[in-house]
Amino acid sequence: MKEKFISIQEAIEKAKGKVSIRGWVHRERKQKDMVFIVLRDSSDIIQCVIKKDTVSEKEWNDLQKVLIESSMEIEGDIKEEKRAPTGFEIEVLKLKVISYSEIFPITKDLNEELLLDRRHLWLRSRKMTAIMKIRSTVFGAIHEYFRSKGFYEYQSPIFQSVQCEGGSTLFHVDYFGKKDVFLAQTWQLYAEPEIFALEKIYTIAPSFRAEASKTSRHLTEYWHAEMEVAWANFDEIIKYGEELIKHVVKKVLENNKSDLEILERDVKKLEPTLKKKFPRITYAEVLKLLKEKFKMEIPWGKDLRTIEEDKLSSLFDTPVAVTRYPKQVKAFYMKEPDDSKKDKPVVNGVDFIAPENYGEIIGGSERESDIEKIKKRLKEEGEKIEQYDFYLDTRRYGSVPHGGFGLGVERFISWICGLENIKDAIPFPRTMNRTRP
Ligand code: ATP
Ligand code: MG
Repeated sequence: MKEKFISIQEAIEKAKGKVSIRGWVHRERKQKDMVFIVLRDSSDIIQCVIKKDTVSEKEWNDLQKVLIESSMEIEGDIKEEKRAPTGFEIEVLKLKVISYSEIFPITKDLNEELLLDRRHLWLRSRKMTAIMKIRSTVFGAIHEYFRSKGFYEYQSPIFQSVQCEGGSTLFHVDYFGKKDVFLAQTWQLYAEPEIFALEKIYTIAPSFRAEASKTSRHLTEYWHAEMEVAWANFDEIIKYGEELIKHVVKKVLENNKSDLEILERDVKKLEPTLKKKFPRITYAEVLKLLKEKFKMEIPWGKDLRTIEEDKLSSLFDTPVAVTRYPKQVKAFYMKEPDDSKKDKPVVNGVDFIAPENYGEIIGGSERESDIEKIKKRLKEEGEKIEQYDFYLDTRRYGSVPHGGFGLGVERFISWICGLENIKDAIPFPRTMNRTRP
């Protein structure tokens, strides 16, 4: 076929006349003198009808061997057909089988584990295709947002020699027999040194956490969009987080309407995020709300668990920024504000809790500037100060107020798409029990 191929979406937009398309067989139904094929490409699906007396004998014979996922080229007349899955149909005049398929091992009744075993093939499903398109928009929109605000893209190492988010989720690496090498949990300790040069930086990179618990929100390898800014105060950090979320959601609503439809996502649930200012409440206020609304008694100083986050999120239709967490539940680098109380010390840390039970999507903070306070906290956590000497240099040579946050890209995608499990937000999910395929 010499004709220029167009995508199925372009063919549907053309709506009538001759078209040439190519793709994979999504469904097929063979009758005596007629074959129905639903062809799929990256853009959409379309029903194609092949009549025995319209095509050559060779074409008809080839067609008899076509199964789901065979790849084909098709030329024919497109017209509106209300009963077809996407409202259009092609009457086929010519066809060419590019490659036959064996019996495709994915059927309707496969359970979740079998679908994960065959993930490399399940990626071709309409559901996964829609999610991956949204994922692509999300990554693009994150880059777009930060670059439009004058941030430089910057990269930190994946092999690291210090921990940052707690030893219990560190992945140790056998690094030529050396023991103290870990996979990055975050870029942060290697990002802070760079703000003295570039001032505003961001990245999107994999983070690794040895999460031993099975939840629908944790992966062992996830993509982390992180930012760090010099001269910024706590308020500005929160503002960047809110703007980023709004920008990305807006882009997905603009670009991925049909994908959200395939996922049966109720987009009305995302709209308040664009229109409303996100509430900001303190940890102490959260405890009060949980007590008033749900009779939950959380003692001051306990971290918020999934159940508390979910109850809290049920009170709002946008993400909510929770601030002023107890110092004892947050990392060593978070700043204690001047008005922090001696008996109940808090830090300028912020978690953005997504609506609809999707949990924390952003964790951020203003960074502690007092080197002695940082050392004291590292010691309390049993860390070897010498390992952190390079990091402490950020507070020795012209320290400035600064802060940043990390956004879990798959958590964000799960919420945007309304997914039941974070595993579907990434092509090949990695969890405690799964590293294959
Ligand atoms: P959580 O309490 O939910 O485990 P965290 O406090 O450990 O989160 P941070 O260390 O603040 O999370 O990491 C920043 C962001 O990275 C989180 O807000 C979340 O969106 C995401 N994130 C953290 N751990 C995971 C994980 N195991 N899988 C996917 N995303 C994660
Ligand atoms: Mg965690």
